[in-house]
Amino acid sequence: MLMADTFDEKTRKLLDIIAKRRYYILTECIGATHALFLVVFAVQRVMPMVVFNIFSPIMYFSARFFLDHKKEYAVFVGMYIEILVHAIMATWFTGWETGFQQYLIGLVPLGFMACYELTTGKTRFTIATVLGLCATFCYVICRQLSYTQTPPYVFDSRVTMMLYNLNSVATFAILFFFLIIYTYNMNEMESKLKRQNAVLDYRASVDPLTSLLNRRSMGEQLKKSLDSGRYFSVAMCDIDDFKMINDSYGHEAGDLVLKEVTRLINENIPEGNPICRWGGEEILILYNDHTSEEAVVLSERIRRAIDDNYIPFYNKTIHVTITIGVAAHSDSQSIEETIAVADGRLYYGKNHGKNQVISFPVPS
Ligand code: GH3
Ligand code: MG
Ligand code: MG
Repeated sequence: MLMADTFDEKTRKLLDIIAKRRYYILTECIGATHALFLVVFAVQRVMPMVVFNIFSPIMYFSARFFLDHKKEYAVFVGMYIEILVHAIMATWFTGWETGFQQYLIGLVPLGFMACYELTTGKTRFTIATVLGLCATFCYVICRQLSYTQTPPYVFDSRVTMMLYNLNSVATFAILFFFLIIYTYNMNEMESKLKRQNAVLDYRASVDPLTSLLNRRSMGEQLKKSLDSGRYFSVAMCDIDDFKMINDSYGHEAGDLVLKEVTRLINENIPEGNPICRWGGEEILILYNDHTSEEAVVLSERIRRAIDDNYIPFYNKTIHVTITIGVAAHSDSQSIEETIAVADGRLYYGKNHGKNQVISFPVPS
């Protein structure tokens, strides 16, 4: 399966929505968390943090306006600075034990995500690393400051514990959020690459005009049949007087004839028998698990279908015939020799009236 290797379809759709709206979700959740902080700080009368937490939710809820106008970059810068300053201030005023410094850890994946999404070029890794180091530095400074000073506001131990747990859960939620988006994006990229590879593989193995296998991929099919030890026959087909079609009706008509002949060959042989555009208007068929007699029956069916067919071309009809040389592979010869035998029989058929299937030994 090419799509959604990691997720089922429902989960993938949900994650797609989350990934597309990630900045909206982030700003709204952080805004709501700040509204909660506002209540806590107001109850505890930590006035500097009350003031800070009046402006923070306003900033986060107005971020929607910037996001609607594709200003993710401005939102990221505002968010990064706000989280940094809030974590330092809250730790400074209420101490290490309330756990506000933990948000600095969440800044590291935020910096990487934003730098990779919003900037291009070699510098983005450097910028993301510098931002991450900046958060690390602030974390250590917070630890140092809270170690050397008693916080101006000390809460009841139950309130401190509650705040610490709340801040831990929120930090984990941020980490989960980034890693889920990261995993989803990786999965999407992997699926996209697989799809593109399948398209490239297909293009590299077929002839663009007829969609028949090209010579390289027919080589692989022949080798497969040879290695499997199964018996098989080959048929070399060549359109009769094809040059005359091009000369009389033009190249466009020649191309149409090639496509029609391909269609008729495809229609008249069972699946599992690879067909290849060997050269200009030469087609090689590999009859897997077919004796020479069986290959002749199928080749004769193709020859007749083409002979019975009239190809409309503007206000004219084009009629073509085909000559086919058939040879069964034998273990005593190489695959090249078997193809040469079929080619020799085709050549014989061309020199003896065309529009026929030749499978008997011919003088070389
Ligand atoms: P014979 O009956 O002996 O096979 O004669 P022929 O005219 O079919 O053979 P010949 O090999 O002399 O001519 C083949 C022609 O096929 C020459 C070439 O211009 C044409 N041809 C090869 N590839 C294409 C193609 O992709 N499109 C078109 N329209 N013509 C092609
Ligand atoms: Mg020809
Ligand atoms: Mg030819």
